[in-house]
Amino acid sequence: MASPEPIICAEGYLFELERRGYVQIGPFVPDVVLSDPEVVKQLHREFVRAGSDVVEAFTYYGHRTKLRLIGKEHLVENLNRTALRLAREIVDEFPEKNLLLAGNICNTTIYISEDPNSKKEIRDMYIEQLTWAKEANVDYVIAETFSDLGEAEIALEVIKEFKLPAVVTLAIHTTNKTIEGVSVPEALERLSSQGASVVGLNCARGPKTILSLLKEVVQSGRVKCPLACLPVGYSTDEEHLTFQSFSTRDRKYTDLDHHTCTRYEFGDFAKEALALGVKYMGTCCGGAPHHVRAIAEALGRKPISSQFSANLALHFSYGQKESLSHIHPEGTVSKNFAYGEKM
Ligand SMILES: [Zn+2]
Repeated sequence: MASPEPIICAEGYLFELERRGYVQIGPFVPDVVLSDPEVVKQLHREFVRAGSDVVEAFTYYGHRTKLRLIGKEHLVENLNRTALRLAREIVDEFPEKNLLLAGNICNTTIYISEDPNSKKEIRDMYIEQLTWAKEANVDYVIAETFSDLGEAEIALEVIKEFKLPAVVTLAIHTTNKTIEGVSVPEALERLSSQGASVVGLNCARGPKTILSLLKEVVQSGRVKCPLACLPVGYSTDEEHLTFQSFSTRDRKYTDLDHHTCTRYEFGDFAKEALALGVKYMGTCCGGAPHHVRAIAEALGRKPISSQFSANLALHFSYGQKESLSHIHPEGTVSKNFAYGEKM
């Protein structure tokens, strides 16, 4: 996993595919992997073109609990194996890029810290998902969006049993702590000392409020392994620490569009994260390919889709006379429409 430059990892498949009409808010189950595999592949491809170094198999919430919720538990193996195959096909599509293929496990929604039966069931779910990931020859495993440190520790333990590198990230809600009440520096220190290759934060918080938490981790000096940071694509602030804080219960996840981050916010995020020493960064829920491209460009890279980064010099009204002289005769460039603009 060692890299002189930060690794960029695009995540946010559930929300992007929801916007495109293939995932349902509420259950959030990735059965699009089986119903419309080409759609999943296309989003992988867009993220790679935007600069992601990782193709993450779309098995997020593709575990037994979630499939049971929609009456499709019998499809769990097929869904996982298909998601891994689709991700591999995209890695193979870009041989010159040396992309990493990541397996993925996540919170199960059934973790109860005092209940050994729930822990056993979770363990078994991770074992089966990682059996399929191992057989697909993944480079490492992303274990993510844990709000309970205890559940993250089970995930890490199982990943280690499979002898795979682990990137473990926590989703921290408005208490600024894990559900058990453990501080973020302590939780990440524990995961690091238990053998994770990279630890950090993802989901729940947008660029600003995730970085303020991560800053505390850096300042504590407690975590020795590389740090990860993958915010959601929504402009959370001191008043709304998480993207869930924006909405009333009846509109949860459905009225976020006007809070969507600009590409500039993700560019600024990348620079700040780099300055903090973050070695693994990307996007989560609400993030889209143009956000990933903004991260890549802020790190000085030129991903494939940079060929379509804005070039207002060629705009018919906002452009520069010299750039447009081959189509506009002298003096006709600026049409000066009353578009209105910020001064
Ligand atoms: Zn997320």
